[in-house]
Amino acid sequence: MKTIRVAVFIGFICCAAHSASLLQSQSFPKTANDLTFTQRTNLLAAGYEPWESEYDANGHCISGCIYSGITIKDELNVLQQNTNNARRNLVQYIQNQPQQQNIISQPQQSGQSPVVIIAQNAPRCEPHNTNTPAGQTMPLGVPLTGNPRVTSPYGQRTNPVTGKQQVHRGIDFSATVGTPVYSPAIGTVKSVWRDSTCGNGLKIAHANGYETVYCHLNTVTVKNGDSVGAGCVVAETGNSGRTTGPHLHYAIKYNGEYINPTDWVNNRG
Ligand SMILES: [Zn+2]
Repeated sequence: MKTIRVAVFIGFICCAAHSASLLQSQSFPKTANDLTFTQRTNLLAAGYEPWESEYDANGHCISGCIYSGITIKDELNVLQQNTNNARRNLVQYIQNQPQQQNIISQPQQSGQSPVVIIAQNAPRCEPHNTNTPAGQTMPLGVPLTGNPRVTSPYGQRTNPVTGKQQVHRGIDFSATVGTPVYSPAIGTVKSVWRDSTCGNGLKIAHANGYETVYCHLNTVTVKNGDSVGAGCVVAETGNSGRTTGPHLHYAIKYNGEYINPTDWVNNRG
């Protein structure tokens, strides 16, 4: 009986260790610590982010994909559809903007959700991002001051080290550690968290079903449930989580789904 127990125990050790190695991702690199100097330099130059969704040469999901089992084409289609839905909403917002001062909810044609524009009594703050109009309700423009360099745009890209296909669901802006991050619109802090990929993360909910997501932060200066004004400081950029260098990863969600944020970032409101 004793012998059997020992055998079972050894068997468990054997198989547990074996399973663990099988579970480890074969993709490389996973963290900045895995990189050689040359690889790190190449990745930094390319604005690569080690936690983008990844697909093999045939376009099949390896890791981090929106839904497991889908192809890169499927993911890009889903993201494009989400973006098209949001863009219709953006057009309505822009059309209604001149009247926004006294509008709470703008009725739309049947079948469309009303575009909520609340600009009255907008919270004021100092410092204020002069790129962001006070009272802005739509996340338009860049959540940093000045005109920061985009190190990695939204969309499909090829990892310069592994050659694998990836989808980057946000925009990366170059920013030294400690650069202030400003909310691009009035909103409510929905989540402040820390994980191994996003690092210190922040999510803010805005009107009309929008959310903005920020990763790799050094510090977050707001807390869950806080009301934030447009152009008000909410965090400082950093180098937390899986990065190859300090930057801000900025993403926008519409009705809970990631969209291509490019039109929103390029439209300064
Ligand atoms: Zn990014």
